[in-house]
Amino acid sequence: MFFIFGISPKTINTQSGQFLCPVCKTRSAYEIKEQRSYFSLFFIPVFPVGKPKQSLVKCLHCGTEMPPMVLEHNT
Ligand SMILES: [Zn+2]
Repeated sequence: MFFIFGISPKTINTQSGQFLCPVCKTRSAYEIKEQRSYFSLFFIPVFPVGKPKQSLVKCLHCGTEMPPMVLEHNT
């Protein structure tokens, strides 16, 4: 029997809310995405390996991904 396994990146949405996007200057919804490497078996991610990579805030209005620090300066 063959085992197909490997390490694959997986993006999870960890949080969402509303913010004032500095790119499109619109009050819109955002999602925080966290990318992490997963050990996968038969192409199904089984468990995370390593540390999570830097998370990104994505504006759902213009689609720009930016560092999470943009959320610190607006409410
Ligand atoms: Zn935007």
